[in-house]
Amino acid sequence: MLLADTKRILLKLSGEVLMGDQQFGIDTDFVAKLAGEVKAARDTGLEICLVIGGGNIFRGMAGAAKGMDRAQADYMGMLATVMNALAMQSALEKLGVETRVQSAIQMDQVCEPVIRRRAERHLEKGRVVIFAAGVGAPYFTTDSGAALRAAEMRCDALFKGTSVDGVYNADPKKDASATRFDTIDYDTVLAENLKVMDASAVALCRDNEIPIVVFSIRERGNLARVLAGEGTQTIVRTAGPGAS
Ligand code: UDP
Repeated sequence: MLLADTKRILLKLSGEVLMGDQQFGIDTDFVAKLAGEVKAARDTGLEICLVIGGGNIFRGMAGAAKGMDRAQADYMGMLATVMNALAMQSALEKLGVETRVQSAIQMDQVCEPVIRRRAERHLEKGRVVIFAAGVGAPYFTTDSGAALRAAEMRCDALFKGTSVDGVYNADPKKDASATRFDTIDYDTVLAENLKVMDASAVALCRDNEIPIVVFSIRERGNLARVLAGEGTQTIVRTAGPGAS
């Protein structure tokens, strides 16, 4: 196992991974594959909280750049995360995995509101809980939502599944000499402004001692490999003996 005594994780997926090879929106075939990854992890006995971004549909900053009111645009972004959550719920339930969606913006006809104690019961029963709408407030991101839910639900680690396989000292898509860290501490990530998650999310994880595991969710079976300690990833945590 990558991290000892891991019983409950928060898995954060960027909205962009739901696009598959599309330029926009939701690729249902790819979401079905992602759901398979989540199911495999759940079947190992892990309790799983899921947070999915909304960048494949709408980002508040993009709306604001085009002249929209930022808060208004952010609410649209939050609604996008609810759409993604429902798509993932549907894909997971097709595979026989029980799920509940809890949204930080109340939407009674569609999903539950965020209620921590109720989420606890769902996890105990083996359900995957998908937390939607981030923290429910503009000027935040789903990274912050993920860090907040990881702390609130006392997750042992936050796994960030994205399109790169870890944290690099430069952008690996632009710089061929960029190197990946195996482990790195929170303060270095913050001081050097490395692209992991936004600063408030990293700080929340640091203050609550929640390790962040950054890995690629694009290759099939990679979540299971990373969880088993056989994959490629970067672990962000407090520097200590054994950290490289
Ligand atoms: N958002 C927000 N508050 C939150 C979470 C999300 O305002 O607590 C909005 C924000 O506009 C953001 C959008 O929702 O750009 C989509 O989320 P995010 O950019 O985090 O998605 P990702 O990059 O993970 O796909």
